[in-house]
Amino acid sequence: MITVSSAFDAGAIEVVSISPEPALEAGGPAARLRLKLPTDNASDFRQWFYFRLQGARGVRCAMHVTNCAQSAYPEGWPEYRAVASTDRQHWFRVPTRFEHGVLIIDWTPPTDDVYLAYFEPYSSERHLDLLARVAGSERARVTRLGASVDGRDIDLVTVGEPAPHKKRVWVIARQHPGETMAEWFIEGLLERVLGACAVAAAVLEKAVLYIVPNMNPDGSARGNLRTNAAGVNLNREWLHPTLDKSPEVFLVRAKMHEVGVDFFLDVHGDESLPYVFIDGSHMLPGRSAANIEREARFIKAVSAACPDFQTEHGYAFDRFSEELLTLASKYVGHTFNCLSVTLEMPFKDNANQPDAQHGWSGARSRTMGAQMLAAIAADLGVT
Ligand code: ZN
Repeated sequence: MITVSSAFDAGAIEVVSISPEPALEAGGPAARLRLKLPTDNASDFRQWFYFRLQGARGVRCAMHVTNCAQSAYPEGWPEYRAVASTDRQHWFRVPTRFEHGVLIIDWTPPTDDVYLAYFEPYSSERHLDLLARVAGSERARVTRLGASVDGRDIDLVTVGEPAPHKKRVWVIARQHPGETMAEWFIEGLLERVLGACAVAAAVLEKAVLYIVPNMNPDGSARGNLRTNAAGVNLNREWLHPTLDKSPEVFLVRAKMHEVGVDFFLDVHGDESLPYVFIDGSHMLPGRSAANIEREARFIKAVSAACPDFQTEHGYAFDRFSEELLTLASKYVGHTFNCLSVTLEMPFKDNANQPDAQHGWSGARSRTMGAQMLAAIAADLGVT
């Protein structure tokens, strides 16, 4: 019997129906599954899915996800391909098409126990493994800032010894929990800065890194796309966070005000655009010429350091005008008068350098995180 389940970390799917017995078709046994995207636990956003498919070895499964037209980003589905794994380590793209508002994943699993997801997951266990590994480094400290809505730890990694002459470099990820590429990025950045690396040593002479690998551990574990356990989009909370509804932002923002910010990078994923790009702060009212120049220099440094990065495609400048200062990078850029940008990586692929087998992936996001250290170094003037 073919079954679908999602009762595990970050799991998310609704089952409408599954053919009771595989039908014998010309190409072999085939089954039809009708599935739906569930909403985030306390909001209307839906896009993330992650499920286990059992008992379908050698059966061609047409998995129809029928409510994609009601998803948060319907434009995220054309040209999109789902990822699958047979060992929960290696993820690859599988044949997927989008027809009349329905996403159809058409795949014949090679084993009786496989997983499918919107993007390569970054599990809660891996998150804790990363923190424990980082805490073992002499260069880093892991501190708990407080608790999320569900009571999970909000952890801050501090790399380097704070000193009055040092710049304060902040990097945060996964305000939107379904954007798992953001934490893969952080893993790569941490590995590079904690490894034997001349650039890392030079950076840590001049700066302290404050890194929040996962701003939204509740949403991550619950399989949410965009919100925390209270149904709040954390990247709209930066003007007025509360301990009640958005403690994740409240705690991190309070720490920023305590230690200061000279550089801020907020790492995200974009459902629609098949490119890596930066959304900057040059459009903020009253932005100084020096800050605008610094941002342009940094973007050039990212172009030089990260081959996947490009500047042709991105958000229109006025996209967030009404709610501008509720966004992390705009709030921080405005409040601390510093370099402050949002990095977006694709869910689909990098159309400039497509990978037929993997599309955009955890590995590519991790590589991007490692490469970003050179761009940070350039901003600090150490390379
Ligand atoms: Zn995001």
